Formats: sequence, C-alpha cells, structure tokens
Amino acid sequence: MDKIRLLDLDSTELKSFCDSMGLPKYRAGQIKDWLLKGRSFGEMTNLPAELRDRLSANAVTGIPAVADVLRSSVDETVKFLFELEGGVLVESVLMKYAYGYSVCISSQAGCKMGCRFCASAGVAFSRDLTGGELLGQIIAIERHENIKVSHVVIMGIGEPMDNYDNVVRFLKNVSSADGLNISLRKISLSTCGVVPGILRLKDEGLPVTLSVSLHNPFDDERGEIMPVNKIHGLDELFAACREYVNATGRRITFEYAVIEGQNDSKRHALKLAERVRGMLCHVNLIPVNKIDGGKYRRPSRETIESFQKTLESKGVAVTVRRELGRDINAACGQLRKRVIS
Ligand code: SF4
Repeated sequence: MDKIRLLDLDSTELKSFCDSMGLPKYRAGQIKDWLLKGRSFGEMTNLPAELRDRLSANAVTGIPAVADVLRSSVDETVKFLFELEGGVLVESVLMKYAYGYSVCISSQAGCKMGCRFCASAGVAFSRDLTGGELLGQIIAIERHENIKVSHVVIMGIGEPMDNYDNVVRFLKNVSSADGLNISLRKISLSTCGVVPGILRLKDEGLPVTLSVSLHNPFDDERGEIMPVNKIHGLDELFAACREYVNATGRRITFEYAVIEGQNDSKRHALKLAERVRGMLCHVNLIPVNKIDGGKYRRPSRETIESFQKTLESKGVAVTVRRELGRDINAACGQLRKRVIS
C-alpha cells in the first residue's frame, strides 16, 4: 500500500492521521513544524526514535530531494532539479527581487499541452504532482538557501489547470495561517488558456493572480504554436477572462512573448488592444531570447517600444520585462533550462 504523504494533508487531516496512530494531539503540531522546515523524520529530534521509525514505516514527508542546483552567472536566479517519489524529476526556480524571494514551481511532471516553443511539450507526460509536492518544492528551496519565500508563481513545467484539484489543495495549504502563510495575493497561477479551469477558479474564493500565456491575438496564428487554442479559441478565452475579473475583482496578467516577425507587428498590437479593451488587466511583453536554433528571435528594441506604445495609445497597461531572471520567469521549465544553461 502507498504511504501517506504528510505534506498533502491540511492541519485537520494531519491531526486525524496522528489520531489514527494513537498519538496525542500535540504531536501533530510538532510534526507540522518540522515538515515546514523541510526536515526528514530522522531529523525530528523532539519525537521519540520509536515514533520516528513508525512514521517512516507509514508515511513520507513529501519534501523532494535536491538532485541538482544551477546558479545563473548573470543574476541571482537559481534553478533546482528535484527528484520526487518514483524518480520523477521536476524543476523549480528561485528568483530574488527587491521585494523578496519568488519561487516558480512545477505542477506536473511533463506537460500535455504541446506548446511549440516549449521543450516540455516534447517530454512525455509522466504524472500530476500532488498538492504536497507543489508545497514541498518551496519548502525544500527555503531550507536549501536558508531564506523565506514571499511570492510564488505556478509557471514551471505543467499546466496547472490540467491538475486542478491538486493545485487548489496546494493553494489552500500554502496560504493557511498554520502553514507557510503565503498570501494568495502573492501567488500567480499561469495557464496556457484552459477555459474550464479559469471558470472553476473564479468561484473558489482564492484571490490569486491569474496569468494567461497569450502570445498571439489571432486564432489561426496562436493555434499554430499553442494547440490548446484549437480547443478553446480566443473569443472563449477572453470571455472567460472577463468573467474571472468580474467575479474576483482581480487584475489578469497576459503574458506576451514578443517574437521577431511572428507577433510583433502593429496589426498584432491593435488586435491585442481590441481583445483586452475595458478589461482590468495588464500585458507583460517578454522579449524572447534566441531559442530553437534561432527560429524564434528577439525583435529590435525599437520594434518592442513601438508595440508597447501602440498598446498604451489604446489605454492598455503594459510592462516590458528585460532582465534574464524575468525572461526565465515568463517561460516554462524546459525553456528556462535552455536560457539559463
Ligand atoms: S508552455 Fe507551459 S503549458 Fe505549454 S507545453 Fe510548456 S509547460 Fe505546458
């Protein structure tokens, strides 16, 4: 029988687990404290040795093992390769900003969405991560770097909306006062445009920032690089986004990787402005680094500025990300790997 993963449990469930093992209530609090510090059962030194052995026999912590660490030579970005149970590997990235530490975590081992610009699409989907495995990535990084993470982006490998229940469980646990207590307002959830997930999330009462990877305002062109567009076209996607904003009052972020000759024309900017007109949102323009052997290139500074000005002239709030860490932030796991290596 599979062992229970303790980081998957909320506090009530952890108390029930301890109860089922015949332990006094205070043990649940002790175990939780250790779990949040990323400690193994063997390191839970205020528990009797016999109890630690019983825990090991019946459960796992859910803290992933650090398989590799890669530090950017350009900025303070650190990429982690984690090994989960069953030998599954996922990536997470730590980024340092003026406001604190932000971690980008993976939600699945592999991805089914098949975005053309993303090498994760070529990696076979292995499995969904559990809520505890999402949480464990943050805890393991905090322990490894001896820091406190203040912001989280679910933008690594995987499509969070394709692993909806586990992601929502994670959101509830990571933000709970007796958990890591990270404000939901400091958490961004990124989707490539899985509309049913957006519509479900709007009713959860979880004030996260929804981030949509857009990259093109035209259905035919977007469909060529993002197969999800053939299932949920842009009219449906933007209608769902408007519903999300109306229900939550939260501003949506549209991520737009600007690629030379592909989506950087005035025609694209005007169509994008038309799509977001009147919506509480902002657009992040991400000048891509050269990827896929030069197939996708960064436009000139003038082209990007012109794109930005066209959007602004139509009243759209726009930012341009220029730093490497931010480029990394905007991409998915395997793309990050290429950029940072
Ligand atoms: S960009 Fe994101 S959603 Fe698309 S294939 Fe890569 S990991 Fe999946």
